[in-house]
Amino acid sequence: MSALENYESSTFVFNVRVDNYNLQTAIDRVVRFITGRPGGVSHQVLFTNVHSIQLARHDPELLNCINHADLVLADGSGLKIAGRLFGHPIEENLNGTDFTPRVLALADRNNWSVYLLGAREEVVSTCCQKLDKHYPNLRIAGYRNGYFTHDEEKEIIEDINNKKPDILLVALGSPRQEEWIAHHRRLLNAHVCFGVGGLFDFIAGMRKRAPLWMRKTGIEWVYRFLQSPSEKWERIFVEIPAFLLRIIWNKLLESTMLVEHRGKK
Ligand code: UDP
Repeated sequence: MSALENYESSTFVFNVRVDNYNLQTAIDRVVRFITGRPGGVSHQVLFTNVHSIQLARHDPELLNCINHADLVLADGSGLKIAGRLFGHPIEENLNGTDFTPRVLALADRNNWSVYLLGAREEVVSTCCQKLDKHYPNLRIAGYRNGYFTHDEEKEIIEDINNKKPDILLVALGSPRQEEWIAHHRRLLNAHVCFGVGGLFDFIAGMRKRAPLWMRKTGIEWVYRFLQSPSEKWERIFVEIPAFLLRIIWNKLLESTMLVEHRGKK
């Protein structure tokens, strides 16, 4: 099996699914999740990046969550490089920090409601205030910080279900947020749940986004590292190089096998 396999609109990078969609197709799918048939299991939208692919290698539960989500969008330059090398270019980098505000803008236009779960109390409450100012028609159904125990989960799910949000944003970091949604989505009364990582910190202004030129050239990771070196060094200096080496190694193996196969013909 190749490092990258294509099945219809999904690409599997080391067995981890990435839906290769452009922005409009991804938005259309989310709209269908929200406006489609009411009831049933909440839809799960995830953003896969090098970090989650490397984690999923040793975490079958995370692999299962990602591969069974309703929509898995491609986040980051690592996946773009892998796609290009294997001749399956990734259409668009759809990371949660840029994609989710587009969904919120739609929610604002359509008067949909949102519930925020995750981040520190001052972060999530400030984030709600900012959203309220920025999107006057967006209904903020409720919020809860992300520092809770297992025993508190029942009460949190009850609160979400009483408020029946159209959209649930879960910011607990990876892989906790992906696993939390996958475990609870059958119990949740929300049309769609997103795992959004540090989004609330960005919206609240507690963390700064990289300048646009850095985002456009695919080096936002440098900025993120400089912001919190102790938290991000492993991702930058261990995970990304390890991922790229695996990709290059697999590409070399594939090319060698192709040459041998041609030689035998
Ligand atoms: N977080 C949380 N509960 C926890 C651990 C983390 O709510 O037990 C929050 C944290 O405050 C931050 C977000 O999860 O707002 C993780 O952001 P990060 O950028 O680290 O996400 P990742 O890159 O892991 O997706």
